[in-house]
Amino acid sequence: MRVLLVGGGGREHALALGLVGDPAVEGLVAAPGNPGIAEVASLREVNASDPAAVSALAVEVAADLVVVGPEAPLVAGVADAVRAKGIAVFGPGAEAARLEGSKTFAKDVMTAAGVPTARAYTCVDAAGVARALDEFGAPYVVKDDGLAAGKGVVVTDDRAVAERHAAECGRVVIEEYLAGPEVSLFVVTDGEAALPLLPAQDFKRVGDGDTGPNTGGMGAYTPLPWAPPGLVDDVMRDVVHPTLAEMRRRGTPFAGLLYVGLAITPAGPRVIEFNARFGDPETQVVLALLETPLAGLLHAAATGTLGAHPPLRWRDGAAVTVVVAAEGYPAGPRTGDAIFGADRAGIIHAGTRRDADGTLRSAGGRVLCGTATGPDLAAARDAAYRLVRGVELAGAHHRTDIAAAAVDGRITIPG
Ligand code: AMP
Repeated sequence: MRVLLVGGGGREHALALGLVGDPAVEGLVAAPGNPGIAEVASLREVNASDPAAVSALAVEVAADLVVVGPEAPLVAGVADAVRAKGIAVFGPGAEAARLEGSKTFAKDVMTAAGVPTARAYTCVDAAGVARALDEFGAPYVVKDDGLAAGKGVVVTDDRAVAERHAAECGRVVIEEYLAGPEVSLFVVTDGEAALPLLPAQDFKRVGDGDTGPNTGGMGAYTPLPWAPPGLVDDVMRDVVHPTLAEMRRRGTPFAGLLYVGLAITPAGPRVIEFNARFGDPETQVVLALLETPLAGLLHAAATGTLGAHPPLRWRDGAAVTVVVAAEGYPAGPRTGDAIFGADRAGIIHAGTRRDADGTLRSAGGRVLCGTATGPDLAAARDAAYRLVRGVELAGAHHRTDIAAAAVDGRITIPG
């Protein structure tokens, strides 16, 4: 199988490692890729969000499967364009990707499907915003309606901050605050059959102890020793299958990766958000434990044959990833700094580039992450932090508490 992987971040580096680990894969092309992916794939320049350019590249490299990593190309219709060329593609079409592309659309689908989620209002002016904030009270949850790379959400007790964010965004979704630990559940689906991957937890805030602004994600771990028994089965029954059925009913079946972001509240799991693609950095840990060949799995989802796919196999133990971010991230990351110590197994490249002389430099806010597995969460955590401590990058910062509460048994469901 020849595979074209679209994207160039940490998620795509993890996907690339999974794809080349599948004996069925004879060749991997990544576009645009990154210096980490370049170790296992040939790279091509492409505007990843240009459907015509990506589909032409898929034809040129004779891809048997195209895997689209990031959300922007999906929302732009890249999967539709590739499918129109008769090439199998892992990732939903533009209509179905609206589950991520519009928070209002996602809420509509959830309501129609009876999926448990926070009550919410879409607001377009200050009066509507004020009414919604009054009704729900603090903590206030204010979300940009469109794509914002995980940074369009403000959760705050400060009414003025909530109102300012709403005014900056224009069209916003204001919703009820959900209390409880968060879970990311990835589900591979062909639109009808659906296979859940291991649940993971990520860390959205920039600072230790969940302080500071939201980011794209500062670390992750899997599995979740504290998860209630039956969690995944419950979410498949109450969230995933009703959502997939509603998307089929609308004539826009969702095939690809359905990312279910949940809060585990005293009343049970509630959906915080849907995404239409693998999450970053949870992909790094989930794929580190997946033993089932990845390309075969994604190909089955892309070709409507997932129902005949064997059950997934997982490695024992746990996986942890810790993100190393550039100085100034998330507000204004500094790029162009030299990176040393990154050429080691387990270092996943996210925002890096290589100079002509071979020097590796930072090229984005989240620069790289250290991903490690171990017989248990504590061992995986120690190994991931050893990797991160071996990296030199001026001004870089990382959280020091990734997976710490889970290792210490400090995560509880309020009630
Ligand atoms: P989202 O982009 O919708 O995933 O939101 C980003 C982050 O904001 C989530 O991971 C949560 O930590 C937080 N968040 C979003 N919605 C809510 C909510 N209704 N209640 C509590 N926290 C939320």
